[in-house]
Amino acid sequence: MTAQQLAARAGGMRRLAVSLPTECWIVLALALMPFLLLAGGGSVDTAIRILLWGIFGLGFDILFGYAGMLSFGQAAFFGTGSFVTAYLLVSGLVTNFLLAIGAGVLASMLFSVLVGMVALKRVGIYFSMITFAIGELCFFIQHSVLSRWTGGDNGLPGVPHPVFQFGDKTFELTSGWGMYAVIAAIFVATFWFARRVVTSPFGRVLNATRINPERTLAVGHDVQRYKMAAFVVAAGYAGLAGTMMGIFQSYVGPDAFALDTSGQVVMQTVVGGVRTLIGPLVGAAVWIYLRDILQQIPGIGGMWKLILGALFILAVTTMRRGIVGEIQHYFHKRRLAVAKAAAAASEKLAAFAPAMTPADFLAAAPRTTSAEERAARVQAGAEGVPAIEARHIRKQFGGLVALEDVCLSVREGEIMGLIGPNGAGKSTLFRILTGEMPATSGEVHFRGRNITGVGVREACAMGISKSYQIVQVYPELSLRENLLVPLLARQRGAFRFDVMASVKRDGELMKDADRLLAMMGLSDRLGGPVSDLSYGEKRRLEIGIALATQPDVLLLDEPLAGLSPEERVQVVGVIKAASVGRTTLVVEHDMDALFGLADRIAVLHMGRNLAVGPPAEIRENPIVHTAYMGGRDDD
Ligand code: ADP
Ligand code: MG
Repeated sequence: MTAQQLAARAGGMRRLAVSLPTECWIVLALALMPFLLLAGGGSVDTAIRILLWGIFGLGFDILFGYAGMLSFGQAAFFGTGSFVTAYLLVSGLVTNFLLAIGAGVLASMLFSVLVGMVALKRVGIYFSMITFAIGELCFFIQHSVLSRWTGGDNGLPGVPHPVFQFGDKTFELTSGWGMYAVIAAIFVATFWFARRVVTSPFGRVLNATRINPERTLAVGHDVQRYKMAAFVVAAGYAGLAGTMMGIFQSYVGPDAFALDTSGQVVMQTVVGGVRTLIGPLVGAAVWIYLRDILQQIPGIGGMWKLILGALFILAVTTMRRGIVGEIQHYFHKRRLAVAKAAAAASEKLAAFAPAMTPADFLAAAPRTTSAEERAARVQAGAEGVPAIEARHIRKQFGGLVALEDVCLSVREGEIMGLIGPNGAGKSTLFRILTGEMPATSGEVHFRGRNITGVGVREACAMGISKSYQIVQVYPELSLRENLLVPLLARQRGAFRFDVMASVKRDGELMKDADRLLAMMGLSDRLGGPVSDLSYGEKRRLEIGIALATQPDVLLLDEPLAGLSPEERVQVVGVIKAASVGRTTLVVEHDMDALFGLADRIAVLHMGRNLAVGPPAEIRENPIVHTAYMGGRDDD
């Protein structure tokens, strides 16, 4: 098959796929599922159970898949929802079902705020362990202190079936097809909402917090609040699944709070496919179906757990992305192959333009700056308040003094170079200026205001941004998505739960991202993932992310390190374009590039100020020569 035929076929399939929203496909699949299950020896009850675990898993996938938080204590919220709703209904305190369900879900979410305040103080394995412990704590409390209300070991039997009144007719929803249809409808609604959550601006930022939390914070997002929001949403889903499970079974078992419950949602999500939303449902289908089937085999006894465990290991080792994840990956790879083949076939590739053209710059830079213009601007800056200032900074790491009494004053509108041998403390000073790290003593001033001790997020919001010495991009995201992370912070501020908004439909935002990509000379790399970029291109993207926050003061930490001569020329071009109309501070070892670029140069040596002045003066300074330029080869 030729590339064109392949492309045409893939295009046809894609058109069919996009013409139906995902929800329609799911409705279709849910309509078929019970028939498949019945044919395979399952029951409608099995199908209902799968749906409820699928709802539970939607929230867990948002939490684990998108926010990257592996909770082993989701039973705490599943159980809270189950017991609150069941208690309200059994005791007769509440007779309205919707009210009882709402109360259960709300209780789960409120409880998750309390748990989150503790668990979110830690990340990674410590977060997992805290949630694990809280889950166990709930299990214990349900069996002891709260057993009067929860029935302890017996659980809560006698949860009534939902009754609906239509005119003078009453319907009682018992298990079976009616129940299945209602829960399937709820699944579709919750799936739709979960998809809104992950594709909305909120979801984009949440995903970014998982991939690179430090950078996401540094470009202006309140990472903790995003995590808390994801935690509460996941608890809401867990609570809803719990309340519905109690109603469906007419009973809440003592295992609602059990570790098994927390573990099962993790396993189903992993088997089905993390970050797919539909994966947990597929995982639940496989898991619950197999469990039901295995338990029916005579003489097998407790062995079913062993068999299921072995199957789990087999699934995880052979399908790293889970069932749905592997399928998606297969199609994604094919699409990429088709796109590559089509590109290779087109003549466009023969006339491949260099990444950065002078026209790109002219389009990107609002005005060109002549030498006189710059000199006038810097002169004006020298007379006014400095843009950013370090006053008597001292920084100590244990016994090591990295900075001692360092002062630096960058004028409004100038490009200042900061040089010094490796270990002189340049990056440390940058981290202090951007609020990433507090100084041991000394002050940082921004436009005359003392900003000592503000965090990196606040500093970014004020207009200070940095590109990192070690590239800090989002490798899993596309180029455009990389730039959307800082742009969304500019547009929406530190936090917003705007799940009904759409990034794609925000034309201005997309235009901003594309303009920045053009400015970085990356427009023709839009198609591929960031992991395919060359080092020089990653550097430019790195600077682009810092620039996307629209800072007044831009700090660049070794933007030319590790680049080829051609790439250096391109990045110097980017720096020139980026520094128009803003204050720029550049750390760089490439003297030729820096001395041509900067209005003034400051020299750090062993954590102390050595000299500051115009490039020509620094070049001739004998002290700088001895301390820095003399003894080393220029890399
Ligand atoms: P430069 O960027 O000028 O090469 P750095 O600011 O990275 O220098 O480092 C200055 C000194 O501080 C070095 O001796 C380095 O080892 C030390 N240092 C930097 N960061 C830390 C840290 N987080 N903990 C301990 N020591 C550090
Ligand atoms: Mg450094």
